[in-house]
Amino acid sequence: MENKVIDESRQGEALLLNVDKNIDKPAGRQVFIESYGCAMNFSDSEIVASILIEKGYSTTSDYKSADLILVNTCAIRENAEQRVRNRLKEFNVVKRHNPKLMVGVMGCMAERLKTQFLEQEKIVDIVVGPDAYRELPNLIETVEGGQKAVNVLLSREETYADISPVRLDSNGVTAFISIMRGCDNMCSFCVVPFTRGRERSRDPESIVAEAKLLFEQGYREVTLLGQNVDSYKAPPKYSPKGRTLNASDSPHSGELEGASISFSKLLEMVAQVSPDLRIRFSTSHPKDMTDDVLHIMAKYDNICKYIHLPIQSGNSRVLEMMNRGYKREWYLERIAAIRRIIPECGISTDIMTGFCSETEEEHRDTLSLMEEVKYDFAYMFAYSERPKTQAERKLEDDVPEEVKQRRLAEIVALQQKHSAERTKLGVGKVHRVLVERVSKKSDQQLSGRNSQNSVVVFDKHNFKPGDYVNVLAESCTVATLIGKAV
Ligand code: SF4
Repeated sequence: MENKVIDESRQGEALLLNVDKNIDKPAGRQVFIESYGCAMNFSDSEIVASILIEKGYSTTSDYKSADLILVNTCAIRENAEQRVRNRLKEFNVVKRHNPKLMVGVMGCMAERLKTQFLEQEKIVDIVVGPDAYRELPNLIETVEGGQKAVNVLLSREETYADISPVRLDSNGVTAFISIMRGCDNMCSFCVVPFTRGRERSRDPESIVAEAKLLFEQGYREVTLLGQNVDSYKAPPKYSPKGRTLNASDSPHSGELEGASISFSKLLEMVAQVSPDLRIRFSTSHPKDMTDDVLHIMAKYDNICKYIHLPIQSGNSRVLEMMNRGYKREWYLERIAAIRRIIPECGISTDIMTGFCSETEEEHRDTLSLMEEVKYDFAYMFAYSERPKTQAERKLEDDVPEEVKQRRLAEIVALQQKHSAERTKLGVGKVHRVLVERVSKKSDQQLSGRNSQNSVVVFDKHNFKPGDYVNVLAESCTVATLIGKAV
């Protein structure tokens, strides 16, 4: 099974020529799953794969031989949706040759558009939202009965905690574990609360059990996923020790006190699975990130010293219009806390330029904040107005596109400079690297990441993916350390 990561360079036309009706197909029906967007979507595709395998499907990495194509879509920006529409056109070529082929869309764009998706894209048979994946077998049956099928109901409970994901496109070393779903923050530019619903956390026992199982299967790193991991709160029926509370527990036993487990406690529980299982997490939120989380990170060597802390803008007025819930000063105080408690911590962020009414001076506030923090890495985008968001309803998208792009170019250039400076700091030091794969550049070299999430490349010798190797970094590129095993 393979979860195709789209590479734009592939020419749709070339594929058309290879359509071969005589592919000998294994007995069961085959599903081809393709994911767009964030790690949460990739993790969901692994849950969907598990649900369908349960129903007798097997997987294929070749969509031409599939009985069912599922596209896990992203709605975060207009161009993300356009990519999905372009891809559906490619699938349409195959469907014309194989009318029995079923095509389904899932994820955030499916949830945003709902039945409109069927009207806008005739090739689509199934539209299923992020909380309705258990319904997929029934939706498939509906299509086999000759109708289109839609289920975009959002849930306040669904966490798929009892479904064991099937690892897709896996290197056998690193894996995602989703710890919660949805988001209660209402950042004014964001569609996620509308496409993924209200926040709900998974029970800690199932998360720890999944980490243990992955470790037993040879995985050596897990990334705990949530839209805002800092607001993780275990369902009330669990004691601070993670034990399921039952009727016999007396309310005075202290067990019930603070019966909810916060993210820092969950992080500690997962870190205690094994010192050889590395822990990462994403995404943090500046308004909710506590010193408790930082102290737990400092306490356990196997919790990676890396935090992704989106800032979006360096100006407090713009942050307020974005409804981010913090000001520039508060954010910088969080950065100072990270640097104080975990001095060696790598930090990355998300930055958006050209938000509604952003002035040149406010843009410069973002640049000056970047100078102050010096991020290791950043995801940087120009504001893309999304339907039904608070910003679309109440604010004017009045920054001209060329100004947005010019500001974006300035931010990207500055980040390139900072990334190079930050990576250079790693030269001359020994890094404990978890090997993930053979280097893309040479099969005589291996690549992995250090605790700060920097990529490290070194000569292979007898090491293999899954090994921890101490590497002395001797040189670097903008984002990669190059060294030798010591
Ligand atoms: S925290 Fe804000 S930007 Fe992030 S998913 Fe939630 S609403 Fe969207």
